Amino acid sequence: MPENSQKSRNDAERKLYQPDEKGFYGEFGGAYIPEILHASVEQLKKAFLSIKGDETFKNEYYDLLRNYVGRPTPLYFARRLSEQYGARIYLKREDLNHTGAHKINNALGQVLLARKMGKTHMLAETGAGQHGVAAATACALMGMDCTVFMGKTDIERQYLNVQKMRMLGAKVEPVTSGNMTLKDATNEAIRYWCTHPDSYYIIGSTVGPDPYPEMVGYFQSVISEEIKLQLQEKIGRNYPDYLMACIGGGSNAMGTYYHFLNDERVKIISAEAGGMGIETGKTAATIHLGKTGIIHGAKTLILQNEDGQIDEPYSVSAGLDYPGVGPAHAFFAKIGRTKVYAINDDEAMEAAFELTRLEGIIPAIESAHALAILKKEKENFQSDEVVVLTVSGRGDKDMDTYVKYFESINK
Ligand SMILES: *Cc1c(COP(=O)(O)O)cnc(C)c1O
Repeated sequence: MPENSQKSRNDAERKLYQPDEKGFYGEFGGAYIPEILHASVEQLKKAFLSIKGDETFKNEYYDLLRNYVGRPTPLYFARRLSEQYGARIYLKREDLNHTGAHKINNALGQVLLARKMGKTHMLAETGAGQHGVAAATACALMGMDCTVFMGKTDIERQYLNVQKMRMLGAKVEPVTSGNMTLKDATNEAIRYWCTHPDSYYIIGSTVGPDPYPEMVGYFQSVISEEIKLQLQEKIGRNYPDYLMACIGGGSNAMGTYYHFLNDERVKIISAEAGGMGIETGKTAATIHLGKTGIIHGAKTLILQNEDGQIDEPYSVSAGLDYPGVGPAHAFFAKIGRTKVYAINDDEAMEAAFELTRLEGIIPAIESAHALAILKKEKENFQSDEVVVLTVSGRGDKDMDTYVKYFESINK
């Protein structure tokens, strides 16, 4: 093949996994927003494009990641887990970040960007409270006002995180519409943003209108950047045979996959929350069961009934029960770049218990969904194949759920 057509083919491939200029990944994505937000979203996109790839911004951001968050996070060879599954399994330890999960990577990136834009008032939505805590942390660090919208149901369920946000100086705004959970908190944050267009809305995952999915993925891409370097150092090549991560909105997964999407040698497998099982109706398996629609400013797969009413999602894991999914992940699954399992509650709980006993690491229940992929794929592994699996967060916040679950099955 002549060099030029080789180059243009490579460019086309590279672009395949990037959004187009309107923020579409294939048919998914875009910005479906009320007129009143157009100016704010345009301004944000311009600001993001100006810092994307900018070395000065990156230096400031990476300095915080290193000295404040504690990056790079280890890529840990899990010897006993590897013996159990017959592959060389490495865990990317996002659970060791400050505040206990990957969410701080994105929160700091966005608050830095907001400061550059001259914004002083930050908004965030939160479900389980993890993104709320990360946003409140970043705002405390940079002396910014922070209002966090949170469903009343979630406030009751996740009281420790509410207390942390308040101690960090954030205002927690209870949301009493709908089921009073994440979807309703997001609606409320968007409503507030419409009436306060000067504020900055920190979205916590690869969801929402363009440019959020791309921007959040970019801020999380430090995960795969580190994986490349760490693999080179540990195994002498800079790619794994498998990458695995869990998907709520899709930010830790996007960060894990980002620099490997064009590398067809890497098989990519995601886990979404099956809940009680995809056939039971008590599930959050959006990629398996969702139909195309518009939610929170983006076109994506959504759990909805015939009339387009959103079905209430269910998962034992508060971080995964969102009725939509990041548009990029809907697209990657559709074109077959990723394989997606729906992992049920009991499979995730078992995987969490197994990791704890084999490696002494108590994972977040979200992360346990990714761990449960190992059992599904075990028979496909060759003993010398390398798996990199992201442990998105630590299990401290889930101890009540773990204890209750194991008490109930040991009765
Ligand atoms: C929020 C959260 C998730 C789900 O969010 P993504 O954007 O899909 O990564 C997963 N794991 C942990 C620990 C979380 O806090």
